[in-house]
Amino acid sequence: MNTLEYKFFISDCKKALEKGNEVDIKFDIDDICLKTFSNYGTARKKAANLTQKYINHIDELLVSFEKKYNENGGKLNWSIDYDSLSEDIIKILIDRKIKGVNLFESRFVEELGLAKILKNEEISINLQSNNCIIFEPRYIISQTGSMYLVFNSAIEMQQVLSANLKIFVLPINSILKNIEDVELLSKLYSINKNKEENLPLTTFYTLKPNEENNVELFIVDNGRTNLLESKEHRKALTCIDCDACKKVCPIYSLIGDMPYNNVFTGPIANVVLPFLETVNGCMHLSFNCILCGNCTKVCPMNIPLTDLIIANRNIFYENKYIDFSDRYRIKILKKNLIKRKKLNRSAWRKELALKLYVKRRITIKRPLPKFAKVSFSKSKSLK
Ligand code: SF4
Repeated sequence: MNTLEYKFFISDCKKALEKGNEVDIKFDIDDICLKTFSNYGTARKKAANLTQKYINHIDELLVSFEKKYNENGGKLNWSIDYDSLSEDIIKILIDRKIKGVNLFESRFVEELGLAKILKNEEISINLQSNNCIIFEPRYIISQTGSMYLVFNSAIEMQQVLSANLKIFVLPINSILKNIEDVELLSKLYSINKNKEENLPLTTFYTLKPNEENNVELFIVDNGRTNLLESKEHRKALTCIDCDACKKVCPIYSLIGDMPYNNVFTGPIANVVLPFLETVNGCMHLSFNCILCGNCTKVCPMNIPLTDLIIANRNIFYENKYIDFSDRYRIKILKKNLIKRKKLNRSAWRKELALKLYVKRRITIKRPLPKFAKVSFSKSKSLK
């Protein structure tokens, strides 16, 4: 959905709200947190520190994972994007004369569009087959060269583990250093995603001797390095995809998945999509946020989502992605808002300035905020 389509979409949402449809942002996990952690705040902090440290040293972790994986007898495949990955996977399937694949859906499998790749090559998707599977491990562990797999059912587990050819795909940021790290992150994910203490079926998978020809592991970048380049934005790569931020976002509750047209939706999408997709196509998403801060408050990985959305806006402004007239208005507003003398002016003068500089530019008409008769700082000094 481009910027113009989005403006019309938002206008329809506003009409729905006016008709009395309510925004539902209930999210209550206090009971289960109390049961699972002696101090939920400390657990969040620990998880955030740990994963941010790993993201900052991701190159070292990936190198040591590859070394260990090779020692176990495997050979890693690195893919920069969708095109190189699809070429490599199709080559493997054609070489082995595989006509049907059991493709396990996940956010990353969807992001890569693997179903489309297979369809284009006329390879069928057979959800019962255990001849060849494509599966996303939750994490790879650099210390042991193993993968951490999470299954939805016992049948899924049996299909994956007994498959003749196992193709694993995951993004570069799904890496942890130690096996022990998994427990804390899995608990945080499970509680925030499903309100359950533990994930149902999990296992660590390490290559067995003589198994290397039956396992292909792809580590894919697909735009993640764009986020890694920014010291602030790389924090978004610690996201565990728990959806807690979506559940408390008043804008997401109103607009849903549709306008994102992507596997990333909600507050985290507002942050990462301009880096993973194109800035011009996704910039409006960073501007749909009302900066209520709910997402930052609940994020178990302490990702400063609101700050990152503001940082995005700043990048768009600084790099001139915002059109000239809007940049001019922002400049005028900034000039006025940082001067105490101007903020202390009478309410009618400030309202007039807003009308002149802002209201004329807003497509969806709505009343502008009323200023208090006396500014906060002035009212304090009067007492
Ligand atoms: S940004 Fe935080 S709250 Fe949102 S999905 Fe990721 S980990 Fe969960």
